[in-house]
Amino acid sequence: MTDTMLAAVWHGPGLENFRLEEVPVPEIGPGDVLLRIRACYFGALSLRAILTGHPKLTPPMVLGRMVSGDVAAVGEGVTTVKVGDRITVDPVASCGHCFYCENNEPTHCLNQTKLSPGGLATYTRIAAPLVPGIVGLADDVSYEEGAYSDTLGPVLQGMEKANVRHGDTVVLIGCGGVGLTFIPLLKGAGAAQIIAADVEDQALDAAEAAGATHTVNTLRQDLGTVARDLTQGRGADVVVEAVGRAATYRLCFDVVRYAGTIVGFGGCPPGTTMELDPNLIHYGSLRILGTSHCSPAIFRRAVALINAGFDLSHIITHRLSLEDVHQAIEVFPQVECKTLVIMP
Ligand SMILES: [Zn+2]
Repeated sequence: MTDTMLAAVWHGPGLENFRLEEVPVPEIGPGDVLLRIRACYFGALSLRAILTGHPKLTPPMVLGRMVSGDVAAVGEGVTTVKVGDRITVDPVASCGHCFYCENNEPTHCLNQTKLSPGGLATYTRIAAPLVPGIVGLADDVSYEEGAYSDTLGPVLQGMEKANVRHGDTVVLIGCGGVGLTFIPLLKGAGAAQIIAADVEDQALDAAEAAGATHTVNTLRQDLGTVARDLTQGRGADVVVEAVGRAATYRLCFDVVRYAGTIVGFGGCPPGTTMELDPNLIHYGSLRILGTSHCSPAIFRRAVALINAGFDLSHIITHRLSLEDVHQAIEVFPQVECKTLVIMP
């Protein structure tokens, strides 16, 4: 193994500051694992950081956190994995003893350990606190499928919050990769009607193919009217926002029934604000539940589901080599791009 590796290093906002560089392979200490990365998703967070910066990310750094690959080396004392194992890893570890961990909300842990450097590189170090979050991939699961666990996990957590009952009507706003991941799970949870909404017909076609019972292009149809027409005038039992814009969050309140549930999955750009009549919450007796990331236990269940053959064929749509990572800026925003995998 050489001492250096290729990495896409982010030096700050601006495409010219996102550069492929030869950097040292991360060193591992006792308890750490060195991962030869085979797949890493390029996500909205990376795109935003490269174009405009991100308040929670400090350059210079290597972006990317949804990874899979082969164990290349193990530090002293590591017994749970061995060199050559095909794995994915929960990119965030919680401490287990802070207020939030003790109250069973580990996604808000005050002492998180994160994967660093990120996955847009040939190797990364899995620091000792992250090692318990390593999960092996089944032989017939690809690296791209395995690395998707850090999206499937948060979707599974969103499903737990949604608490869909058999026979429910669910409105899903946003039919990108996340929306398409929700649809089979909503079906499996017994939703009788899944009304998928988007502004792109192509995205709606994909939603229908994935199992949505109704599709609504919100540029042409009023989503609230459709939802009420399909529920004897009540509105949807559950609404999932999977876009991350003020307008789509606001739309949730037009389609949910009294005492219904809104699940906020989409993350909005910093500074986003929304005008809302608070009486919609008060007199509507609404349950409004945010969700982001997932607990270690749910991450493990996401990998179990992928290892069992959860179909991602329509979700994993685009791939680039690490050498071509700059093309991600053009490829990722395309409507037909549900997900983009960088393959070092
Ligand atoms: Zn904690």
